[in-house]
Amino acid sequence: MTATPDSAIPHAAENRVIEPLYAEILRRNQGEKEFHQAVREVLETLGPVLAQRPEFVDARIIERITEPERQLIFRVPWSDDSGDIHVNRGFRVEFSSSLGPYKGGLRFHPSVNLGIVKFLGFEQIFKNALTGMPIGGGKGGSDFDPKGRSDAEIMRFCQSFMTELHRHLGEYTDVPAGDIGVGGREIGFLFGQYKRITNRFESGVLTGKGLGWGGALVRTEATGYGCVLFTAEMLRSRGESLDGQRIAVSGSGNVAIYAIEKAQQLGATVITCSDSDGYVVDEKGIDLALLKEIKEAGRGRVAEYAERRAEAVFVPGTGVWNVPCDVALPCATQNELHEADALTLVRNGVKAVAEGANMPTTPEAVRVLQEAGVAFAPGKAANAGGVATSALEMQQNASRDSWTFSHTEERLAEIMRHIHDSCYTTAERYGRPGNYVVGANIAGFELVADAMLAQGLI
Ligand code: NDP
Repeated sequence: MTATPDSAIPHAAENRVIEPLYAEILRRNQGEKEFHQAVREVLETLGPVLAQRPEFVDARIIERITEPERQLIFRVPWSDDSGDIHVNRGFRVEFSSSLGPYKGGLRFHPSVNLGIVKFLGFEQIFKNALTGMPIGGGKGGSDFDPKGRSDAEIMRFCQSFMTELHRHLGEYTDVPAGDIGVGGREIGFLFGQYKRITNRFESGVLTGKGLGWGGALVRTEATGYGCVLFTAEMLRSRGESLDGQRIAVSGSGNVAIYAIEKAQQLGATVITCSDSDGYVVDEKGIDLALLKEIKEAGRGRVAEYAERRAEAVFVPGTGVWNVPCDVALPCATQNELHEADALTLVRNGVKAVAEGANMPTTPEAVRVLQEAGVAFAPGKAANAGGVATSALEMQQNASRDSWTFSHTEERLAEIMRHIHDSCYTTAERYGRPGNYVVGANIAGFELVADAMLAQGLI
């Protein structure tokens, strides 16, 4: 089934409701361009549900859902190995607790600012709702750049960050996890400092923990695996499978590595990966053991992959989407797949694009893909496997239990099928068959908006 060509364009009557709301959001959140982009993308698809459910308009759900319940900005001072002092800025945006405690990752990257944290937190509300798990939406991070820092420097930074953040967290209040620049090492340092300050071994306060101290099997793999499982569901609904497909992946971090792993398990050949220096093309298929050794064990660069593997070529700069493929999985960062890239992908016959990263595809590129009938999965649906498995980690922490890999992976697969089906059927119900953007936004929004109505004006 193909997408409705005009699916992203609201009709005139819907426009009259949405445009003034959007103008007010621009006025109140000046300079936060990624947040504007994320809000716009959601609002443009809500017209049909607002028309059918006027109670949402009367209760000012849009005005309330676009205003975080709480926004925290704090100073993070730390000293490097030479004793020099640095000051970074920490953020935590607690966006929505309608469905459960605030839940969403922490990002450490020099580009982090309030607008980026708000875009991620806003997306997280709907993503978490789609999982069907009892979790609200939040996000945080810092403009700290972990690249090139020693373990001791990372630890001091994490301890300073948590010294402020701890007072806002709790297993029933706000439960962070990792994101760009925050993996198992950082979660360990953050958890240790939380435990030390509060004198509580509160496992459920952070997810992505080590397996020996409250972590869950499959959490590391979950986002990448989930993205590929979602892609397989999209292809299945079109009578195809991943077996034998050529896949282009961007990024080489947590999401990218486990997307590559699951795609290979399902019979596909992954021919690319990248980092911010450039990309690798390996026509024989990425050697995942080598990539993991370079990236996970050594914290190295993808250029090294091509140095160590004769079949691979390293190309500096962007351009991974010029490599012909059947399926594209952007798994690096926001706004990394532009209109020109989408045109190239379509020209090269791409069948499906699924966002492993958050908002990697620009709105213009989404439109090109949808108009060409490409199956397009937005991140809030396709990468929800990570947070869903975090919620499974919280369940295990609450019951002091730990599940096997195969049981947890089966739960993840069930959740991804559920998300796919609810996006698919919601898009059909609202007259936009095959449009997963509309399906994901409306399905997530309805769950949160109904809870907000039930819980009164708060
Ligand atoms: P990692 O830090 O593990 O990896 C990020 C990857 O993206 C690295 O290869 C990095 O390269 C590359 N990258 C980051 N910023 C840029 C940039 N500005 N330009 C080019 N490449 C860049 O992060 P994750 O894999 O965890 O996250 C990737 C994406 O997935 C993010 O959008 C994140 O929000 C999203 N996501 C992650 C989840 C998770 O469970 N981890 C859950 C849901 C979504 P380099 O090393 O050169 O910076």
